[in-house]
Amino acid sequence: MSELTTKTLTELRDMLASGSISATEATQACLDRIAATEDRVGAFTSVQAEAALDYAKALDAEGPQTDKPLWGVPVSVKDILATKDAPTTCASKILENFTPFYDATAVARLRDAGAVIIGKTNMDEFAMGSSTENSAFGVTRNPWDTTRIPGGSSGGSAASVAAGQCFGSLGTDTGGSIRQPASFCGCVGLKPTYGRVSRYGCVAYASSLDQIGPLTRSVPDAALLLSAIAGYDERDSTSVDCPVPDYVAAANERQDLTGVRLGMPKEYWANGLAPEVEKGCRAAIKRAEELGAELVPVDLPHTKYGIASYYIIAMAEASSNLARFDGVRYGKRAQGAHDLIDMYTASRSEGFGDEVKRRIMLGTYVLSAGYYDAYYRKAAQVRRLVRQDYLDAFEKCDIICGPASPVTAWGLEEKTDDPLQMYLMDVYTISLNLAGLPGISLPVGLGEDTGMPVGLQLLGPAFAEDRLLAASGALMRGLDPLPAPKGLE
Ligand code: GLN
Repeated sequence: MSELTTKTLTELRDMLASGSISATEATQACLDRIAATEDRVGAFTSVQAEAALDYAKALDAEGPQTDKPLWGVPVSVKDILATKDAPTTCASKILENFTPFYDATAVARLRDAGAVIIGKTNMDEFAMGSSTENSAFGVTRNPWDTTRIPGGSSGGSAASVAAGQCFGSLGTDTGGSIRQPASFCGCVGLKPTYGRVSRYGCVAYASSLDQIGPLTRSVPDAALLLSAIAGYDERDSTSVDCPVPDYVAAANERQDLTGVRLGMPKEYWANGLAPEVEKGCRAAIKRAEELGAELVPVDLPHTKYGIASYYIIAMAEASSNLARFDGVRYGKRAQGAHDLIDMYTASRSEGFGDEVKRRIMLGTYVLSAGYYDAYYRKAAQVRRLVRQDYLDAFEKCDIICGPASPVTAWGLEEKTDDPLQMYLMDVYTISLNLAGLPGISLPVGLGEDTGMPVGLQLLGPAFAEDRLLAASGALMRGLDPLPAPKGLE
């Protein structure tokens, strides 16, 4: 890897701001890295080389701007976020040739901050999956070991950051899709509080759960990206109008963890947790204790219902959200249909992949008149209990911690024949989305059995991203950094 592309976003930003490197040079370095590695990684659905270079040149012409905190920094964005100069496919055939005429708010805010968007990253189709194998445009491979998945659904974002193809990325997290791929690829991944970041221009999967957030190589990097995208947006009625703290200052503010009460839910150390993940996470927690944190046992008794209620709610919302893809308004329209219904059916049958169809069918079923009370209403009630668990736990602790995933990245195709197995892998990330709370996954070590990255998750109360970043910054400074990924050498 060229030395430049191993730097953190913060390091690069400082070099750009001081003029020791130009925006064009930084962008070209990423494009060169993409050219050298993309055939093995497959992180992107499209790369906007020309547009990125043009944008970088325009930035260079005006010179570094102190009011643009991401001036000249090349980043990638998940292909679920609307971009006006690039296709937005959601890794689905149904949107294969769709280019929106507007930018998602998060994307527009990145551009306003001076970031150079170099490409759109691969994902599970419509963000449905945990491995990035449900993409209509091919799989993404893990830069640590290209025989393994990068996690999902924001697998392309995580892989692009880990492979040095860009300096940070935006993903989305409906049930873990930022935190789990970040943990599988040795990145930092932050899922903000529901409402912290505008979802305007983010193609909806499950609207009451979706949230956009950063994937980066360091905690201060995540703080920088979050600062750029957070805050109220009148175009998203669920975005919350509350002040945005100084996340970058937060990420650097703590030298240790004195006075931090770390909640340890026994439900997050359950059967099925791989010994190497348990060992890696416990070692990091021990380090947190050495840095002054106090461990407090907490209970999250409804965790065991998280997966069941999540998949009912997410599929129900998806079945409704995806009704808009009908061959009339966006993307693909089937040819040769003899009437309107036939055209809808053929467009959707040809355009959607198997997992998306499965979820539309199950979602329609749980919302149907005879079953609504038994499934959807019950799941919504359970969701309340899951949220209450967290609220009760945060009476006793400041931050909850546990593994981001029960296992490290598994092999390609290992779980594709068994969707239920894949769903069960989300056990530690999903409840947080049901509760609408923020969480961050941190690369705390490599598993002793697989040699793959292990992610520790820190979870916080609503709008406590600054608290999570402060604790994460201190913990990561107290741990050995991971080596460079070996899978691309
Ligand atoms: N794996 C979960 C799902 O398939 C979460 C996906 C996500 O967060 N977008 O629904």
